Amino acid sequence: MKTVIVGAGAMGGLFGGVLSLSGEEVWLVDIWKEHIDTIRTKGLAIEEKGKTETISVNATTNPQTIGKADLVLYFVKTYHTEKAVTDSLVLEKEDTVFLTLQNGLGNEETICKQVDRKKVVLGVTGQGATLLGSGRIRHAGWGKTYVGELDGRITERIDRIFRMFLKAGIETEISSHIHDLVWEKLFVNVGLNALAGMTGLKNGQVLDFPETLRLMEALVNEAIEVARRKGIRIEGNPMDRVRAVIEATRENRCSMGQDLDRKRRTEIDAINGAVVREAERLGIPVPYNRMITDLIKVIEKRF
Ligand code: NAD
Repeated sequence: MKTVIVGAGAMGGLFGGVLSLSGEEVWLVDIWKEHIDTIRTKGLAIEEKGKTETISVNATTNPQTIGKADLVLYFVKTYHTEKAVTDSLVLEKEDTVFLTLQNGLGNEETICKQVDRKKVVLGVTGQGATLLGSGRIRHAGWGKTYVGELDGRITERIDRIFRMFLKAGIETEISSHIHDLVWEKLFVNVGLNALAGMTGLKNGQVLDFPETLRLMEALVNEAIEVARRKGIRIEGNPMDRVRAVIEATRENRCSMGQDLDRKRRTEIDAINGAVVREAERLGIPVPYNRMITDLIKVIEKRF
């Protein structure tokens, strides 16, 4: 199976690196020339628990040089998905499968605007990684990855992706309710990212201050209400699971926090902004999500 990963930053690099190491034919595509040049000449360095392994992976800035792909995996930031999909259409053949493991809502819709919906599959990942510099990433989190067909069927192609990930040591499950899991992950991002990002807190500190705890719960409760009204299945107590994830990553600075610290654009439109959009369609008020989206937008405008 020829896999092309579009967006070879922290996560694309991680998945590309471990898949390549397991013997898969993998290509990394990125618009960042220096990074691709470093991977081509020196390999991709993955740091994990203090040790660094350098892995040889095919890498290019030009997807036209790759030929056709069996699997295209998107790992660009959500605001780059549309362009990344356009750039990757040259990889398409009749049975190419297009997968996204990006965070947030809306990636599926963005891909489906340019790719036949029948070719698109979806996933979420609890893996975590940080981009350290050109050709260098750090593997920082080991959560489970889920993949699934949009209609929930267990197909041969989803089983193939599942087995490929497993063989590469990526703990994976096939889900027949993948949209539910996308929302489940969204709840954490909705409660944590913008709030920790703009207050300058590490993840766990959001639980320590009564003010941020209250705001986190308000943001997540609004998202839960929207999800319920959309018919998303929510089992047990999602707020407990959000708190558990925040606690388990207590010492981390979330990705939106890192983006704001570096004065870079955030994925707010795909996270709290997406809750606002979905809520508007349903006619549900979500004042906390609207306010935090507006505040992040203004912070971004001042960069
Ligand atoms: P990143 O910024 O490290 O990497 C994104 C890469 O995409 C960059 O190298 C950029 O140059 C490249 N890019 C931009 N436009 C492109 C294009 N048109 N074609 C090819 N490459 C292009 O981002 P990341 O942290 O790897 O995150 C990627 C996605 O995965 C995001 O949606 C994020 O929320 C999600 N995610 C991240 C983590 C994590 O721990 N980093 C965990 C789970 C999910």
